Amino acid sequence: MKIAIIGGGVSGFTCAICLQKAGFSPTIYSNKWSPETTSDVAAAVWYPFTVEPLDKVTVWGEKSYNTFYSISVESPESGVHIVPGYDLFGEKMPKQWWQHFVKNFRKLDAHEIPEGYADGFSFSTPIIDMRYYMPWLEKRFLACGGKKITQKIHDIANVEADIIVNCTGLGSRELVNDEEVYPLKGQIVKVDAPEVKEFRQDFKNGPNHLAYIIPRKDNCVLGGTTDANISDLSIDLDAAQAIKKRCAALIPSLNEAKILEHKTGLRPARKAVRLEIDHSFSVPVVHNYGHGGAGVTISWGCAYEVCDHVKSLVP
Ligand SMILES: Cc1cc2nc3c(=O)[nH]c(=O)nc-3n(C[C@H](O)[C@H](O)[C@H](O)COP(=O)(O)OP(=O)(O)OC[C@H]3O[C@@H](n4cnc5c(N)ncnc54)[C@H](O)[C@@H]3O)c2cc1C
Repeated sequence: MKIAIIGGGVSGFTCAICLQKAGFSPTIYSNKWSPETTSDVAAAVWYPFTVEPLDKVTVWGEKSYNTFYSISVESPESGVHIVPGYDLFGEKMPKQWWQHFVKNFRKLDAHEIPEGYADGFSFSTPIIDMRYYMPWLEKRFLACGGKKITQKIHDIANVEADIIVNCTGLGSRELVNDEEVYPLKGQIVKVDAPEVKEFRQDFKNGPNHLAYIIPRKDNCVLGGTTDANISDLSIDLDAAQAIKKRCAALIPSLNEAKILEHKTGLRPARKAVRLEIDHSFSVPVVHNYGHGGAGVTISWGCAYEVCDHVKSLVP
């Protein structure tokens, strides 16, 4: 049974590893690889952000949280670490669907909530340092005999396979003519701030004026912006200064932090993730794209479901 995966981002590699575990030998086709994919730009914190549909995200999100937790324990070299921290909000928040399974969840007490905020959650979550995680995924895939082919696929009909898994993210707009997938541009700033040991996320000013602080091994990621339908990757230095200022309002030492790098990326947004079998081609295609701002967060749960679909297609 020949299985081809199109797309070499976090979705493609995670599906490939799950399929290998199930006894398949997939080949990944991609025009770009790490460190040149959107996945490489992700902050990346386990957190469900700008992704739908909720009923499925809850399942994919919980399975992925648990898998990342195991990876952090068994393979710290993967760049996955469980980090404590807290979220802040400008309004009272309802119960979150994820609060029963994330580690150490509790609502912040009134005296812990800074002035100007109305609510907050404290919990521990996986931080997935993509600089280490993408090579770690690739190494696992290659060590199990996986094959990579560098090629842009223009027509699915030209891929030699019995089953195709489509993990092309934003590329699906062109590849399968899906106009529902669109770019949601994000900008981040990497700074030198080894003193920061906890994450912070501030949602008070809405998705385009977030403040998030994600400590990693070699740097600290400060974010961020969320701009719909902008598809250039230019860096906005004013936006970067504003991000740093918002983050420094939460952790003042960040005012002095040296900027190491600016990064932008285009999240593959869609009103709902497309994860389904499509029989409109000459061979079955399992789509897995449109993960918005949570492609890492739900990567394992989606890959398990892709694997189940592939198994269901095997006679
Ligand atoms: C600033 C920023 C911060 C983020 N932070 C987080 C976070 O904290 N947590 C989180 O979960 N998510 C985060 N995200 C979102 C996350 O990065 C994406 O949801 C995720 O990377 C999508 O992964 P993917 O593999 O589906 O797509 P991509 O990483 O875009 O991979 C798609 C792959 O398909 C290939 N491809 C496309 N078209 C073709 C074609 N026709 N032929 C061959 N190959 C093709 C591409 O070259 C690429 O290799 C963030 C994104 C940004 C921009």
